[in-house]
This record gives sequence, C-alpha cells and structure tokens, in this order.
Amino acid sequence: MKAIVVDKFGGPEVLTLKEVPKPALADDQVLVKIEFAGVNPVDCYIRSGTYASLPPAGYTPGMDGAGTIEAVGKQVRGYRKGQRVYVAGSVSGTYAEFCVCNPIQLHPLPRQSSFEEGACIGIPYATAAYALFHRASLRRGQSVLVHGATGGVGIAAIQLAKRAGLRVFATGGSDAGRVLLQSQGADVVLDHHQPGYEQQILEASGGAGVDLIVEMLANANLGRDLQMLSINGCVAVVGSRGMVQIQPRELMVRDGDIRGIMLSKAPPGVIGRIHTELLSGFTDGSLRPVIRSVFALERAMEAHHLQMTPGALGKIILKTS
Ligand code: NAP
Repeated sequence: MKAIVVDKFGGPEVLTLKEVPKPALADDQVLVKIEFAGVNPVDCYIRSGTYASLPPAGYTPGMDGAGTIEAVGKQVRGYRKGQRVYVAGSVSGTYAEFCVCNPIQLHPLPRQSSFEEGACIGIPYATAAYALFHRASLRRGQSVLVHGATGGVGIAAIQLAKRAGLRVFATGGSDAGRVLLQSQGADVVLDHHQPGYEQQILEASGGAGVDLIVEMLANANLGRDLQMLSINGCVAVVGSRGMVQIQPRELMVRDGDIRGIMLSKAPPGVIGRIHTELLSGFTDGSLRPVIRSVFALERAMEAHHLQMTPGALGKIILKTS
C-alpha cells in the first residue's frame, strides 16, 4: 500500500511517500481502508520532533481519517466489513491507504457526511466539544468567544456552540477568514490582529464580558483574555505555543478560571459521549466541516506547510488513494 513515512524528524520535506506492507491486523483490531486523512497541527509538531511524546522514526503520521472497514479482528464485535467509519486516532497512522485501529478509535460515519467531511471530525470536533461542554459546561443563552475561530477546532466550536444556543463571538486573522466566520453564524466577528478588538467584545457583551473563551493561542492572548471574562468566566486553553505573562488580579476580581484542555487526557467514557453527541449533529446537519484544501497523499509536504501558515480557512485533508 501507499503510505507517508517519516524516517527522521524535521521539516515538511521529511514526509516521504513509500510503498509499504499493509499493517498487520491483531484479533482485537479493525483494518480500515482510508479514503481521506485529516491534517492537524499536532501532526506537524510530531513530524518536527518538538512534541512532548514522539513515535519512533519510521512512523506513518495522522490521527484522523474516514473510509470503510476492510477487515475485523476475530475478537471484535459490532463492526462489519464495508461499514463507513471515521477514525479518531489510529494504531498505524492515517496518512496511508489502510490503517489499523482499536475499536474505540472508530465511529460510524452517517450517510449525510462524505468521506472528505469524515476526515475532519476526530480531533477538531472532539476537542471543541470537550472544551465547551465537558471541561466547561455552558448552558443555552450563555456566551463564548472562540478566539482563533477560522481553523479546524474553531469552526467546530462555532457550530457546536450555535447548536447549543450560545451567543458566539469569533475572531479571525484575515478578511476571508472573517467572511467564513459570518457564514458559520457567529454573532460577532472580529479581527484578532486589530488593536482594541477586546474593547469591542466587551461593548458587544453589554460590558458583562463573555462566559467562556476557547483560546487557540494562549501565549499571545491569555493576559488580555482575562480582561474580557464575565464574573465566574473561564478561559479554556486549547492551543499555546510559548510563554505568557498574566495579571492574576484580573482573574481574582472575576472569580474566574483558566483551564487546560488536552483531548488525549479525556476519560474514555467522556470521549464516547462526545462522539455520540457529534453523531446526532452530523446526522441532523447542524454540524458540517468546512474543507479548505484537498491534497493528494504524495503532496503531504505542501499540506503540512499550509497547515502552519497563518490565514486558516477550515480543514486541510489528504486523499489517500
Ligand atoms: P488551525 O486549523 O491551524 O487554526 C489555527 C487557528 O489559530 C486559526 O483560527 C488562526 O486564525 C488562529 N490564530 C492565529 N493567530 C492567532 C492569534 N493571534 N489569536 C487568536 N487566534 C489566532 O488549528 P486547529 O486545528 O484549529 O487548532 C488550533 C490550536 O489548538 C492549535 O494550536 C492546535 O495545536 C491546538 N489543539 C489542541 C488540542 C488539545 O487537545 N489541546 C486539540 C486540537 C488542537 P487566523 O489564521 O485566521 O489568524
């Protein structure tokens, strides 16, 4: 089969297309024929060798994907050959024509969703749902600022928040990104590069501040986030790429919280509930990924380059076969 292999950590150029054997299927695993693989920032951090936990060299990247079940291990119940699935995590890597998964990493792909859309679900939608409704617990009528909303997690967060009846503030760094956020139904859209936009958020909230901030770049924003929080408000830190200085009193005077979000640390029961909730949203059409670009597998290098370029506009995926 064709697969991307990383033999040494480094820049996007280390993503090499190779002919490799299909991964071996254990009795407790499922083999999936992947049609499309989702590209996520974490794939780039791992490839560059800077992530906290790294696979051994010679690995195939990719955690998200969608396709059909090719074979089911003898001990696995509840799955059948030919079933449409999306993959949220895999044993062997999704940048390949086939991957093996543990059953817990597989979820039925509703007929309303294409394979392209299925490849966008795993990390982005589960992370957004975990932040909004599990690490925080927002209720209908409350407000959320999706701070950095034009990418995979941000668009998922807008759709999930609107579906739950929340008032949504969203920021994007480009004109095209902000047009996209308007089209996704965000109530207030602002530019996170424009000086003073924090004041506009406060004014748009009637001075009260927002109940939750889903933060994609905490090292740039956390200090200012605290000034936009409501009483009892919370910042859910989804992304951060460095150090940041904060004024703790901003948190104290609001009785506020800062919470870290790490999807890989969510308990299995919570992950199961999240994917059940997502299934109903994809089935009723209230959730629908925005796909920016589809690259052939051999162009994974370009996909990784684009993934780390400012000016996000939804998801980047790879066509694997
Ligand atoms: P993405 O598709 O690359 O999107 C990145 C987002 O960050 C874009 O919306 C971008 O907006 C925004 N951004 C850039 N500069 C910003 C700034 N100064 N202030 C606010 N936002 C800014 O990535 P993603 O998949 O959505 O993931 C977002 C972040 O969450 C990444 O850092 C990723 O590593 C992290 N993440 C964490 C977890 C977890 O479990 N903790 C899970 C998934 C992702 P513009 O391009 O429009 O400027």
